[in-house]
Amino acid sequence: MADERTILDAVPDGLLIGGAWRTAARRFDVTDPSTGDVIKQVADGTPDDGLAALAAAHDAFPAWSRTPARERAELLRRAFDLLQERADDIALLMTLEMGKPLAESRAEVTYGGEFLRWFGEEAARIQGRYGANPEGTGRMIVTRHPVGPCYLITPWNFPLAMATRKIAPALAAGCTVVVKPASLTPLTTLAFAQLQLDAGLPAGVVNVVTTTSSGPVSEAIIGDPRLRKLSFTGSTEVGRSLLAQAADGVLRTSMELGGNAPFVVFEDADLDAAVDGAMAAKFRNIGQACTAANRFVVHRSVADEFARRVTERVDALRVGRGTEDGVTIGPLIDDRAVAKADELVRDAVDRGATLRTGGSTVDRPGTFYEATVLSDVPRESRLMREEIFGPVLAITPFDDEDEAVAVANGTEYGLVSYVYTRDLARGQRMIERLETGMLGLNVGVVSNAAAPFGGVKQSGLGREGGAEGIGEYLETRYTLTPDPFA
Ligand code: NAD
Repeated sequence: MADERTILDAVPDGLLIGGAWRTAARRFDVTDPSTGDVIKQVADGTPDDGLAALAAAHDAFPAWSRTPARERAELLRRAFDLLQERADDIALLMTLEMGKPLAESRAEVTYGGEFLRWFGEEAARIQGRYGANPEGTGRMIVTRHPVGPCYLITPWNFPLAMATRKIAPALAAGCTVVVKPASLTPLTTLAFAQLQLDAGLPAGVVNVVTTTSSGPVSEAIIGDPRLRKLSFTGSTEVGRSLLAQAADGVLRTSMELGGNAPFVVFEDADLDAAVDGAMAAKFRNIGQACTAANRFVVHRSVADEFARRVTERVDALRVGRGTEDGVTIGPLIDDRAVAKADELVRDAVDRGATLRTGGSTVDRPGTFYEATVLSDVPRESRLMREEIFGPVLAITPFDDEDEAVAVANGTEYGLVSYVYTRDLARGQRMIERLETGMLGLNVGVVSNAAAPFGGVKQSGLGREGGAEGIGEYLETRYTLTPDPFA
């Protein structure tokens, strides 16, 4: 693996428009949240740059959409292979700009890469159908076509995977894209864009605009009639406003928004497995995942034992810079995230929750917060309603199945739920009763490129990954022809 400076210097710092890296009049700082140091400056794109990127995607669309699926698939496969070759460097880059421990960044390279492989495979399987109409007077032909130029907005918490989860199905379907990464973590997307050029991707198929003016740049792109689809991953608040903007052009939209995942432990659960699952569901990505378990809803008869065991495990976690050996808890993304985690913990404690461990900021440079466990958390506490997005594990007890379901469903979100039970019928009831897009039944991490990822209620619209994922980038066209025997 190259050293940090060499890796950072190799990342392009311009806007990728029409296959060329362009400079911008202004630049902005990218910082390492574990030190607060500025690690690089990148181009600060304007609304005009956004429109130039959209024009490039629009111009590249006719040729790319007619490129044989096998060729599109092979380009995605080459990008997958190159990503494996550069895995160590990209993982380190992600840790430097986002803070997660290196082992987790490597896992994200694996996960993010799988979307390139999966959708490369899916590209060749875009199918339609042909058949007689029921009256026998004609033939119905159903074909599928790429929707057109797409605008993809990604968050900072999974800088690689959230980009590949959108770019890969779009390209597989024959769409061209403009990508706008989060301004907190633009470097991974820039490095990945260069990787795609190195893999042979034609000019204009993928364009990247980094900017600190997300609102104005997005408004310009979304308001332009050349755009046909918006795919967003981020907070529900921003998603709602983008949906309103997309309404004017009646754009196709995919929305992967916030979560408030319940983690339900029944009295018959395998407690060892539940504790393992809890650690993964809560502390992966330092708690900054839309799929992070937010509310641990644990049967009263095992709640104390569960709290004791998770506290023991949490006390063994090691806080530090993600590049250091053995670190399991990196920094939060910024000061605001630390302040919010602390506020939510104070609020719960003030309302009567028991603080088992943690509960403080960490006295070192960077934006760190201790891994924290709270038990007997009153239901009206803010952290039962709001997305914590930090390493805070909050336990609330319940007494019967109906109550567990009511608590689990008592939120406007519905992204993912986790349930631990050894009772098969109960597990099946949970599949039917929980209002959720995804369910981890005796597992703490559900994400997989081959699975349809997404939420219900205010957690979003559409699915990414799986056989469903490519459909988000395809239009269905129906053609009727006369009965050829008439
Ligand atoms: P965010 O909504 O603040 O930002 C997401 C993206 O939108 C960033 O690129 C940001 O620059 C951009 N953005 C911000 N304001 C904008 C505006 N007015 N117009 C256009 N773009 C704008 O979210 P975040 O803090 O980056 O990410 C955390 C959130 O993302 C959490 O709520 C988390 O649950 C959610 N998330 C969801 C999923 C999912 O798949 N459902 C995955 C990861 C993260």
